[in-house]
Amino acid sequence: MKPEDLATKEKNTWCPGCPNFGILQAAKEAIVELNIAEKTAIVTGIGCHAKIYDYLNLKGFYGLHGRVLPIAFGIKLGNPDLTVIGFGGDGDTYAEGMEHFIHSCRYNADLTMMVNNNQVFSLTTGQFTPTTEKGFKGASNPLGVNENPINPLILAMEAGASFVARGYALDIPHLKDLMKKAVTHNGFAFIDILQPCIMYHKHSSAYLNNNVYKIDQSHQASDLNRALAKAREWDYSYEKETKVPVGIFYQTMRPVFQSQWSQLKKPWYKIDRKTNLSNITGEFK
Ligand code: SF4
Repeated sequence: MKPEDLATKEKNTWCPGCPNFGILQAAKEAIVELNIAEKTAIVTGIGCHAKIYDYLNLKGFYGLHGRVLPIAFGIKLGNPDLTVIGFGGDGDTYAEGMEHFIHSCRYNADLTMMVNNNQVFSLTTGQFTPTTEKGFKGASNPLGVNENPINPLILAMEAGASFVARGYALDIPHLKDLMKKAVTHNGFAFIDILQPCIMYHKHSSAYLNNNVYKIDQSHQASDLNRALAKAREWDYSYEKETKVPVGIFYQTMRPVFQSQWSQLKKPWYKIDRKTNLSNITGEFK
């Protein structure tokens, strides 16, 4: 299989030049190189990111706004043999879906969550999200955002995620490598992907191109305190020139959700249930 084999016939409606194309390409290459297309299920939320559902020829579920993670979790519990990958946006995941995000980190469900973080609600023309920088003026806040952005990497680590990374949509080889490591990680793997929106958050493109750097081998990703310190190097703001690390910040091994429930250890999902629908619907006649 080649990455092109994962293409669909859907017309692509992303803006020409949108970094989402880089994420799509990296995802295709990672899935092909891992040879997991047949057993992969993808889940998306709502937003520009979610169109990836239409452009990847994989099984999956186009979800509701902010609800990628409960759907992905349900799919994984329903069939643990599947490789489950969620795609969310920053508004989708860190606003509407924040409670799901925190608890997924805690549960250490064995799935991957990738967040296309462009720091605005881009599909609806640029309202601010929890990762929008202070001072940003957009469609919903012409006088400027008053709050500081959250740092989703720190949040994920403090909540218990066992794999925490940041990628850059315009560095496809590096992003593909991160995706492969996340998907093969046993536990909840999270990648915050910087994806500058060239329509509604234009200033981030040049800034990120100038400042993104790859975390080198000397970083000890198993050390939580070092990982937190690395994540604090950039606070998602643009006031001053600050280097922006990308790579794996934190990775550890701890029991995944399913392994801690005796009911889920048996191959219960393979039981051939003979459902009699007429018995069930008969109750309501
Ligand atoms: Fe990409 Fe922004 Fe256009 Fe959406 S609005 S497709 S994120 S450039």
